[in-house]
Amino acid sequence: MSKILNRYLVQFKGLAVGQHVFSFDVDKAFFDEFEGGEISNGRLSVEVILNRLSNMIELDFFIEGDVEVKCDRCLEVLTIPTEFEGKLVVRISDSIDESEVSDEIWYVSSNEHELSLAQYIYESICLSLPLQRYHGILGTSTDDCDSEMLERLQTLSLDENQEVREADSTDSRWDKLKDLMNNQN
Ligand SMILES: [Zn+2]
Repeated sequence: MSKILNRYLVQFKGLAVGQHVFSFDVDKAFFDEFEGGEISNGRLSVEVILNRLSNMIELDFFIEGDVEVKCDRCLEVLTIPTEFEGKLVVRISDSIDESEVSDEIWYVSSNEHELSLAQYIYESICLSLPLQRYHGILGTSTDDCDSEMLERLQTLSLDENQEVREADSTDSRWDKLKDLMNNQN
């Protein structure tokens, strides 16, 4: 695992039964680890309240901050606030009940000693984002939408349609058919 993602490891082996609090920062270096992701940058804080039981660990996550995504309308950077609350249960057991395993219920074997939370944190942030993202939502301003880019994009797609129509009208099969019909007259 990369050095960056190593920051999000929690050692649970030596933890006493009871509550422990962990804090993490999420920044650009974190998002750079998830190539091809929809978030290009962000500044978030993650607080995890870990409850250690004898053969189970409960983790309550509180994530909040800002992320940079692409505006659906102008494709420019859109910075929006986001927050997430979730619970993860980790069972410490050498036999796994496959039917119970999910995104929120993990199993670790009794000889493991750490939990890697990076992927869970990343996916939780992605889940917290609205489906539609554009300048004007969540306190952002529609004035920031790059309308010049928008017009260029619209012109581009109109041009493409035009080309498709022109290509259709000069389809040689139609020319042949027209020739045939003309010859019959
Ligand atoms: Zn925009």
